Amino acid sequence: MRIDCKHVWQYISAYIDGDVDAALRAEIDKHLETCEICSAVLDSTRNVVVLVADDRVFELPAGFGNRLHARLDRELALSESP
Ligand SMILES: [Zn+2]
Repeated sequence: MRIDCKHVWQYISAYIDGDVDAALRAEIDKHLETCEICSAVLDSTRNVVVLVADDRVFELPAGFGNRLHARLDRELALSESP
């Protein structure tokens, strides 16, 4: 079985999850060794997966937003008081 870049992209997330069979994994590994494009795609796909899987990435801006909102409320309350 011979695979090309489109096959690799199609299976890339399954590959990262370890969800492809051994023969296909071997073909993808072989392809990645020789193809810079697919190596780059794999790297960027991994980064996206890490961002999505890590809840803290989303908790940080949410907490920051709450603190900012609380501060804005305080500022508004101060400026509105006589
Ligand atoms: Zn490729």
